[in-house]
Amino acid sequence: MRRTLIAGNWKMNGSFAANHSLLTEIVAGLPALSSADVLVCAPAPYLAQCADVLAASPVAWGAQDLSVHAQGAYTGEVSAAMLLDCGCRYVIVGHSERRAYHAESDQLVAQKALRAVEAGLKPVVCVGETLEQREGGLTNQVVGAQLDAVLALLTVEQLRNIVVAYEPVWAIGTGKTATPQMAQDAHAFLRQQLAATDLELGASVQILYGGSMKPDNAVELLAMADIDGGLIGGAALKSADFLAIVGAAK
Ligand code: PEP
Repeated sequence: MRRTLIAGNWKMNGSFAANHSLLTEIVAGLPALSSADVLVCAPAPYLAQCADVLAASPVAWGAQDLSVHAQGAYTGEVSAAMLLDCGCRYVIVGHSERRAYHAESDQLVAQKALRAVEAGLKPVVCVGETLEQREGGLTNQVVGAQLDAVLALLTVEQLRNIVVAYEPVWAIGTGKTATPQMAQDAHAFLRQQLAATDLELGASVQILYGGSMKPDNAVELLAMADIDGGLIGGAALKSADFLAIVGAAK
């Protein structure tokens, strides 16, 4: 049985003061009856603050990216070991904003996923199609190739430690959400691909949905058979919205 994971992606937002309020409100407001695991992915400078505030709570924290290199002369980069030092258990890799604005290829994203699992971090591997690709009937081809790069590089044992996030690019930060059935179809396709690599992977790997998930659409999305949680951007910055989504988890 797969656990539900509700993950917040703060993107490049926050300050010590704002984060403190948000984190303490999340911890204080965690719905007692939700069975979901909860994760916040903060900007790197605030990971130590997450460690301070969340250490005694059930909320995990993670990063939004990591370097493909282990250490050394890579100015501005943050290594997997540094994220572990800050207590991270997860790291997002291949978010569409990294793919689009930093030209991250499927191969680089796969290498980052490998770097993460080798270090003991769980990579949340993001895949998703643009509107043009969806309208051109290319959704499965695009997300399939994005996931394939990871499946080809990691061993089955390593793949047991990944999380996949299906995030249609046209739904991120736009207020447009995939319908539950559209999301379910993409998730089922990705799950099939995992199962084709290893049957047990198909059954066990969590696949999150991301793209304008909000309190008012979370129940329907999270009710779909192959949706195992959410990767939440905008709504993760408001404790009431984030907590309502945690509360909507099956
Ligand atoms: C995201 O950034 O991963 C995301 C899904 O953002 P939003 O929820 O704002 O669409």
